[in-house]
Amino acid sequence: MTSPIRTERDENVLVIVSDNPPVNALGQAVRAGLVAGIEEALGDDSIEAVVIRCDGRTFFAGADITEFGKPPQVPSLPEALDRLEASDKPVVAAIHGTALGGGCEVALACHYRVAVPSAKLGLPEVKLGLIPGAAGTQRLPRLVGAEAALPLVAIGDPIPAKKAQAIGLVDEIVGEDSLAADAVAFARSKIGQPAPRASDGDANRDGVKNPAIFDEFRQKNARKMRGFDAPNAGIAAVKAAGELPYADGVKRERELFASLMGGTQSKAMRHYFFAERAANKIDDVPADTPLIPVKKVGVIGAGTMGGGIAMNFLSAGIPVTILEMAQDALDRGAATMRRNYENTAKRGRMTADQVEAAMSLLTPTLDYADLADCDLVIEAVYESMDVKKQVFAKLDEVVKQGAILASNTSYLNIDEIATATQRPGYVLGLHFFSPANVMKLLEIVRGAETRDDVLATAMKLAKKIGKVAAVSGVCPGFIGNRMLSKRQEQANQLIMEGANYWDVDDVLLEFGFPMGPFQMGDLAGIDIGWHRDPSKVTTVREALCAAGRFGQKAGKGFYDYDEARNRTPSDEVKAIIADFAAKEGNEQRDISKDEIRERLLYPMVNEGAKILEEKMAQRASDIDVVWINGYGWPLYTGGPMFWADTVGFDTVVAGLEKHGLPVSDHLRAKAAAGAQFTG
Ligand code: NAD
Repeated sequence: MTSPIRTERDENVLVIVSDNPPVNALGQAVRAGLVAGIEEALGDDSIEAVVIRCDGRTFFAGADITEFGKPPQVPSLPEALDRLEASDKPVVAAIHGTALGGGCEVALACHYRVAVPSAKLGLPEVKLGLIPGAAGTQRLPRLVGAEAALPLVAIGDPIPAKKAQAIGLVDEIVGEDSLAADAVAFARSKIGQPAPRASDGDANRDGVKNPAIFDEFRQKNARKMRGFDAPNAGIAAVKAAGELPYADGVKRERELFASLMGGTQSKAMRHYFFAERAANKIDDVPADTPLIPVKKVGVIGAGTMGGGIAMNFLSAGIPVTILEMAQDALDRGAATMRRNYENTAKRGRMTADQVEAAMSLLTPTLDYADLADCDLVIEAVYESMDVKKQVFAKLDEVVKQGAILASNTSYLNIDEIATATQRPGYVLGLHFFSPANVMKLLEIVRGAETRDDVLATAMKLAKKIGKVAAVSGVCPGFIGNRMLSKRQEQANQLIMEGANYWDVDDVLLEFGFPMGPFQMGDLAGIDIGWHRDPSKVTTVREALCAAGRFGQKAGKGFYDYDEARNRTPSDEVKAIIADFAAKEGNEQRDISKDEIRERLLYPMVNEGAKILEEKMAQRASDIDVVWINGYGWPLYTGGPMFWADTVGFDTVVAGLEKHGLPVSDHLRAKAAAGAQFTG
């Protein structure tokens, strides 16, 4: 096998070049090649400086993830990098594309770093539940200071070359098209000067002088970091860089790394990394299925969902025609979209020009004829089969043949909706989540007759608008809402049996969800779908509505809210619930948080098993993708199915039985076989 690393001479400079497509991952052969390259330079008196550069689209973009969990192969990355750094001839990293993870650590071990303006540098290990493991957490703070290192190590977002230069991570920005030559010239200019080593740096003293920066950072990012182990380990490693000599700091990094690598969170996050990629594939649809070009999109209904859905396409530069029943609803919808864009601009995430560019692609209309030349139309009208069928019949009449007709329904049967048309093969569900311009998930619902090219096009489009897609078969509520219903059923039942509704919310919060079901109800509005007759009260929700407790927007729902939207359990609601419980003749008892957690989550796992048994999901990991992206299931537990694997099927089955809840045959069989959903 030929080495992915070659060396080229440019007079007195040796250029070590990696050619390991697609991303120059730092596998064993690359590491060995780097060491051989540096030895060649050191053993040759005619060489006075070294440049490390990569062919292809990027500098080393990280470790070779396929080597994770396998026996380590020498040289390890830390060893290879120590050899590079020890060189007494200046070594320059020439960076284009992305220097990520191990790639950034290579750059840190070099004595100098030059980068093209479009390059990005970062340590995203934290996103896989890890911290850098090749001294990145020790070299970086010594080079740029603890304060600048913290977000890179503990949040993991890459930074552009210019920012990297501003913090001292990059020494010089060079020409976009002249990296190779500029890097050699830069290296030559450093000949004869003592090689500056990041491991010798003392910028990390900032964290020693002002140790408060670590807590301040933790507080500022508390929401992002909640529940995750790796960011805290990252902060500890950066702090150690100021407190310990370099060699001890490296040891500390290694310990923290090893404990994360062996822990459940990182396993869960690596599972998710692969799950997201797997969800993109539809097993029985060939990868080379021709796609339907989508140049113009129609949206029916400019309400909560229609507006958000339209924004996805506008932001991606695809024109949208949006249709409503009446002018005022149309105007309101368009105004809401503009306001949302302007708010984004206010927060600095869009320019005023971009707002105008997006809005200029929007055509509001009341006339179906304006949808005739759309390539895709997405319906987001009321959740009523009759209304949806009327809309699809109309679309079938006016929209050109070959166009895709999609419904955003939450629960309804896509196959039945398709019968309203003469082209059921072109009908599918595109289930967005609220707010549709923000939430990452797109559930793609495959009807019995949905064509392969329609599905493949939907998948591709999802990517284009920045969504994570997962395919579901046709069943009530599809993957996500079908499982949510089981959780909601238990939440409602629990409070009838004596559980405090705030305890139910808190259990999910403590598990890692952003909020519980009753908080979610308050946020969405208790009055969604309410019949608006205060004299007709048959459920707790109807009683809340009758009392004007519509949720956060009314300042009160299940909870009372203060101006800062802090919630306090309400005596009025406690009385309403107690009243209903008494009417239903429910005996009240103290219910432990353990019971609450088991009764909320185990039935979801059971429903997931049924979804798999019925082949409504292609794979268990797709269910995890749905729940992590659509419902805030904590990423660090890997999603409901991965989580069930870590809890153990026996425990889940025993828990369901203990609480008198149904156990599916599939789950029971899996438990008996000692099987797993994932992995
Ligand atoms: P909404 O009431 O906010 O909006 C519906 C809009 O459709 C209204 O503006 C209404 O005027 C318009 N409309 C109704 N009938 C129409 C017709 N025949 N022609 C044209 N326009 C018509 O409702 P929403 O929350 O946006 O929900 C829309 C759909 O999306 C429903 O099927 C719902 O189940 C689904 N959905 C909602 C959510 C959510 O969280 N709100 C999430 C996912 C899916």
